[in-house]
Amino acid sequence: MENKKGDVQCINDEILEKLSLKNRYKFLNYNLMTYLNKEHFDFLKQTQKFFINFEKKHNITHNEDLYDWIPEIGKEGLVTRVHNFENLGLNYEPYGHTTEFMRALATDFFDPQLTMGMGASILAISPLLLHNEDVEIRLKALKELAMGEKIGCICITEPERGSDAVHMLTTCDEQDDGSYLVNGEKIYQTNGSKADWAVMYAVTEKNNGNTMAQFLVDTTWEGWNAERVNIPWTPRIHIGKETFTNLRIPADCVLGKPGDGRSHLFEGLNLERLGIVCLNVAQAWNAITHAFIYVNMRKQFDQVILKYQGVGFPLADLWAETMSLTLAALNITQMIDNKMKEQGTLPKEFNLALGATAAQLKCVSAKLCERVAYECANLMGGAGVCDNTLMQDLLGITRIQEIGGGTRQVQQYIMSYALRQLFKAI
Ligand SMILES: Cc1cc2nc3c(=O)[nH]c(=O)nc-3n(C[C@H](O)[C@H](O)[C@H](O)COP(=O)(O)OP(=O)(O)OC[C@H]3O[C@@H](n4cnc5c(N)ncnc54)[C@H](O)[C@@H]3O)c2cc1C
Repeated sequence: MENKKGDVQCINDEILEKLSLKNRYKFLNYNLMTYLNKEHFDFLKQTQKFFINFEKKHNITHNEDLYDWIPEIGKEGLVTRVHNFENLGLNYEPYGHTTEFMRALATDFFDPQLTMGMGASILAISPLLLHNEDVEIRLKALKELAMGEKIGCICITEPERGSDAVHMLTTCDEQDDGSYLVNGEKIYQTNGSKADWAVMYAVTEKNNGNTMAQFLVDTTWEGWNAERVNIPWTPRIHIGKETFTNLRIPADCVLGKPGDGRSHLFEGLNLERLGIVCLNVAQAWNAITHAFIYVNMRKQFDQVILKYQGVGFPLADLWAETMSLTLAALNITQMIDNKMKEQGTLPKEFNLALGATAAQLKCVSAKLCERVAYECANLMGGAGVCDNTLMQDLLGITRIQEIGGGTRQVQQYIMSYALRQLFKAI
């Protein structure tokens, strides 16, 4: 890895060299090779190879506009691997939730902010897969997003409605020709100010979630105005605040009529949360890998610092916790893949249980990756907090993971509700 910012070099050449993407991948692979089947391990290595070449080819410093990279990554079929996109003729192999986990791991090691930005495009892809009904404009949006030609975002949160997302204030009014006029505001949309396509929710009656509709929006349409929100912990990701003024949604872009929007919003939530879990696990591994290499090479008092218990033991603890979480996440993704393969859908009971499990894993993984990134930076001393490596990106991005995708308290609410239901069942 090069001195990332090109500013002042703080880490010596030898250690910087050892922190290369290739070496970091090697450490990850030694950890995972025993637990992955051949198909997933091969895909992981193939994706890693792509990013090693990509980094070399473009002389990446991680100061670039990450959105410029997405088309080339998309051409390689690496925007998402949850689906095979048979209906678009893409036929990706392998695909599924475990493959997607591998994609997230390889991409995150290359650039964590890129991985989160692409993750928001994926959130726009899922509703289009489920509700395209072969309508031309929807298939066009789906293909452009899946292939990384265009950027997507998902618009749920509003300035006055965050955790209480169902009681929306953004309204939609049906017109005689079947189109809708949308008025209102959304905020904190990942990719919002960069997006070409948006999947957006609005209600016919303010505060009434039962009247919610789901729309596809081409952001070049009149009435869409996006500003960029500054989130200093993820400076290269565009986060948007959008204002809709008589934004006209043609009938072809109504993915869910008023009344259907609410169930459309919730249908993919468990799997989306598991997607966040995979990102969190990837960020934890990325931080551990940096610390693992650094503390094995850095010497103080004439000794590599790993050998001091104050350094080696806490790193071992973080490693153990990250490995445990990885195995838990792998178990769930493989279970989902098997059920999808056998039954083409997730059985109702399984999906119900997944609600609590996704909340548990999201909660634990968000907390863990934040601790891991901070503690690993701490074990690296000044080298962990300067701008020479991706540790700086990891410190920032892991601090927002408890908020996006439903806050920690919302996950705790889901879990405590499940505990009450379970008590009633015994
Ligand atoms: C980086 C980032 C990316 C995001 N990306 C997207 C996106 O792509 N699309 C999108 O639509 N949104 C996105 N969000 C929005 C995110 O989902 C919301 O920020 C989140 O749901 C919380 O809403 P809020 O910020 O309004 O906080 P609030 O809901 O106002 O919460 C403030 C605090 O109160 C707590 N709280 C609220 N209600 C309760 C309750 N009933 N019990 C206990 N505690 C409670 C919360 O847990 C939190 O600690 C993103 C946010 C961030 C920070």
